[in-house]
Amino acid sequence: MKGFFTSKQTESKSRPDGKTYSCASCGLYKDCQSPRMKPFGNFQKGILNIGESPGEIEDQHGKPWQGKTGRLLQKTYRRLGIDLFEDCLNANAVNCRPINKEENRPPTNYEVDCCRKNVLKVIDEHQPKVIVILGGSALHSILGHRWKKDLGGISKWRGFTIPDKDLKAWVCPTFHPSYVSREEGAVEVIWMQDLEQAIKKVDEPLPRYRKPKIEIIEDLSILSTIKTSQVAIDYETTGLKPHAVGHRIVCAAVAYDENRAYVFMMPKSKQATQPFIDLLANPQIGKMSHNMKFEETWSVVRLRQPVQNWGWDSMQAAHVLDNRTGVTGLKFQVYVNFGIVDYASEVAPYLQAKDNNGNAINRIMELLEPAGMVFGSGEMYKKARNTVSTLGRDTLLEYCGLDAIYEYRLALIQQKVMNYDFMPF
Ligand code: URA
Repeated sequence: MKGFFTSKQTESKSRPDGKTYSCASCGLYKDCQSPRMKPFGNFQKGILNIGESPGEIEDQHGKPWQGKTGRLLQKTYRRLGIDLFEDCLNANAVNCRPINKEENRPPTNYEVDCCRKNVLKVIDEHQPKVIVILGGSALHSILGHRWKKDLGGISKWRGFTIPDKDLKAWVCPTFHPSYVSREEGAVEVIWMQDLEQAIKKVDEPLPRYRKPKIEIIEDLSILSTIKTSQVAIDYETTGLKPHAVGHRIVCAAVAYDENRAYVFMMPKSKQATQPFIDLLANPQIGKMSHNMKFEETWSVVRLRQPVQNWGWDSMQAAHVLDNRTGVTGLKFQVYVNFGIVDYASEVAPYLQAKDNNGNAINRIMELLEPAGMVFGSGEMYKKARNTVSTLGRDTLLEYCGLDAIYEYRLALIQQKVMNYDFMPF
């Protein structure tokens, strides 16, 4: 395999106008003693540490982690039974020392963007089992080009052990040792726990799942054949709240195990929708969702059917397991649990309304339109609609189906972690 990403993909969203990402445009190599520092370490346990950038001492020695900060990292690893230079390979988000008036300074995001391809090359060539991300610059290096939403800081990411599917390694973010050395007690304890969790992953293979099977159905009567004890349901709708005129549930997905889901456009007639309404009303089948108040409200208002037997809300469970801000969203949970960075970016813009008013209509219907046509514009529209491809519709349905399957998988993990051997349904 050569490379994980194309050069287009390794570009950051924050690309400064007219600049390219290269050593020449970064320029740090000109002012340091050890330009383009090579990764260092015997890598016996397959752990790759990614730090920030070389400091003065590292620049003098031509190797990472030679100063006070490195000694703290080395000491902490030693307490955990790991030798920093024997068991690990050590690289930095930026390979040259950033200087400001002869002093060390942190690299800018642009400098990290410029050096990203070097970091990815190290990963590609060495195939680490575990990648320990030490601090915000390393986080930006590994994820800045792939994470389509606001990345946030290292505090949001630290402690997760992420089975990254692109990099084929456990990605384990934690604090940078220089931050730990500046803080009191608790931070060091947390840091050590994070490192301990990361080390444990060395002998654990990445989880493997079957390819999701998403079946688009027109006739909903097949839903009455579902006999499993729990299903995950997911809606795509015209907005956040269902009450205002014009809103509707555009499509729905029902995952009936961790690999399979039925998906369908919500029928206009009550009769055609009845099998789904019956499923919602069936007290024998527990319902799961990611933020169940959303599916509940839309079911009540638009289908006139409250959901019977809610059994699991993977968003609430995520919050119970980890009450940090910004970690409970489905896309975040899918990445940290399944290592899938992005399955939604094509559809996401269409689900966003122009303003923050919860009653506003989003752009979802544009996805269903033939190219260049205005939705619902008379005969011409109808004719065209019959001839155009269903690409937009199928993309939306697949996205909806994936949401439901990931919700199901997430619920199973959470139920295990929380010891829910006995389910209430
Ligand atoms: N700090 C880092 O981030 N990397 C080093 O190599 C040394 C100090």
